[in-house]
Amino acid sequence: MTVNLYDLSPEGLAGLLAAWGEPRFRANQVREWLYDKRVSSFDEMRNLPKKLRDRLKTETTLGVLAPISEQASHDGTLKRLYRLPDGQMIESVLMPYDDDRRTACISTQAGCAMGCVFCATGQMGFARHLTAAEIFEQAVLFARELEAQGERLSNVVLMGMGEPFHNYDESLAAVRRLMDDLGIGARHITVSTVGLAPMIRRFADEGLQVRLAISLHAATDEERSALLPVNKRWPLAELMVACREYVEKTGRRISFEWTAIQGENDTPEQARALGKLLKGLLCHVNIIPLNPTGGYAHGPSAADRVDRFAAILGECGVPATVRVRRGIDINAGCGQLKAAVLNKQADRSE
Ligand code: SAH
Ligand code: SF4
Repeated sequence: MTVNLYDLSPEGLAGLLAAWGEPRFRANQVREWLYDKRVSSFDEMRNLPKKLRDRLKTETTLGVLAPISEQASHDGTLKRLYRLPDGQMIESVLMPYDDDRRTACISTQAGCAMGCVFCATGQMGFARHLTAAEIFEQAVLFARELEAQGERLSNVVLMGMGEPFHNYDESLAAVRRLMDDLGIGARHITVSTVGLAPMIRRFADEGLQVRLAISLHAATDEERSALLPVNKRWPLAELMVACREYVEKTGRRISFEWTAIQGENDTPEQARALGKLLKGLLCHVNIIPLNPTGGYAHGPSAADRVDRFAAILGECGVPATVRVRRGIDINAGCGQLKAAVLNKQADRSE
């Protein structure tokens, strides 16, 4: 079996090359090509002897992600679908902002087991966890392409397909590699979770400066369980205790995500309930109108409802921002490109 070089720790790579009889300094040279220069082929590793390059070519791979489709939005958002060696598909999105920020949104699982009703990934069900290397490589590829254009990948969010805290170890290993191997600052990395309370506690103990986002979407158990089935396992009271512990332990602010669904979770009463729930907590609420998906019949809240919602939160002393939906014309919501490709394949086979 070929070895994915992105799977190897520094020691793992040194061990492999030592077993091939290579001098010790070669491991550092290879790591430089992989992580500092981020080359896309073995032939570019010019200071390695040809014999070693040939052996690397036959016995290892430079990553495993094969791009199979891509869409660019009017607003500059780029969405890409990759095939993994076992045929699974995952998505990554690159979002340019007006300032110099370039943010990669990457996946942590193929599919997702959490079943949130409005989410295209949740509607697909769970296929498998990604390895740390598969998570990390999504950011490497964008970093490499941006650099070729004289730009730099500045931010990474684990907000693509999958629930990072359901794949905790690999997601955290990927986060560490984003910092160590790709040089992304911890404060420029965000992990988003649907609210697995025990893992929020564990994350608080990691001692990382990485940002935490929690997908809340409802302020009562009844409403939240209807949207996010995981709420039955870890209801709001338990989730909020974990959140408060996180803030106390880390001194860090939590971002709460609120996907605004017209007529569902965008009323003044719900805004007041949310204000009460979050009162006194170091946090910020991001309100993002729903990206409609095939398996969910509701639409995004109208602008005036969203503004009213944010204003009520403000009156309750809870800071809130209304976010623009990025890449709406290319279905850049979580899991939507894969859903679109699968639909097309289904159309063709009919
Ligand atoms: N599983 C994690 C991270 C991936 S989802 C989580 O749920 O937090 C990233 C964000 O996209 C979450 O806040 C999720 O609720 C939101 N999301 C999913 N589907 C959406 C849709 N159709 N429209 C708007 N936001 C959506
Ligand atoms: Fe999974 Fe997040 Fe989608 Fe929920 S919103 S199904 S947790 S990816």
